[in-house]
Amino acid sequence: MLLERNNRSSFIQEIEDKREVEISSCFQCKKCSNGCPVNFAMEIMPHKIIHMIRLGLKDEVLKSSTMWACASCETCTTRCPNNIDIAKLMDALRQIATDSGFDTAQKDVPIFHSAFLSSIKKRGRIHELGMIGEYKLKTGDFMKDSRLGWEMFKRGKLKILPSGIRGRKEIRGIFDEAGRRKRS
Ligand code: SF4
Ligand code: SF4
Repeated sequence: MLLERNNRSSFIQEIEDKREVEISSCFQCKKCSNGCPVNFAMEIMPHKIIHMIRLGLKDEVLKSSTMWACASCETCTTRCPNNIDIAKLMDALRQIATDSGFDTAQKDVPIFHSAFLSSIKKRGRIHELGMIGEYKLKTGDFMKDSRLGWEMFKRGKLKILPSGIRGRKEIRGIFDEAGRRKRS
């Protein structure tokens, strides 16, 4: 904890400089948290996450389940009087936690996140069956939700063969560019 407190400036720098999400102007009005449609599922509210980042509590922030509960609806971003892009912040926190292999509160969610992005990168759109297969292989939990999966399959909601989009090359370019920025 003491080490993290001493490193507070590096955490906020990582968020603001490297991930390009400006949070310093937050004055803790809570409009973001009050309008969030999934705040009931968050262990720490979005405005508190910002406060904790400013205090340098990196471990506590990355261990929380808040960013994994976020549905990226952008209500918070729209409501913020200081134009702080909280949805982008949540995305940055997901990425930092994933990159650092952080032991998050909800272990399977980062695996799902990674399988989702991998599916998009390959085809430009989700192939649900392939994505679920990758997720199940990584979690080793093959039986969970199997009945639901079967019901979806019977109703034609899970296609066997994947389909792609025309702009696959451009989508891969976006991922490559994001990778380059992450490394720089
Ligand atoms: S709405 Fe904006 S200023 Fe208010 S607490 Fe949230 S991030 Fe901070
Ligand atoms: S983007 Fe995430 S944190 Fe913001 S309101 Fe939507 S669910 Fe809540």
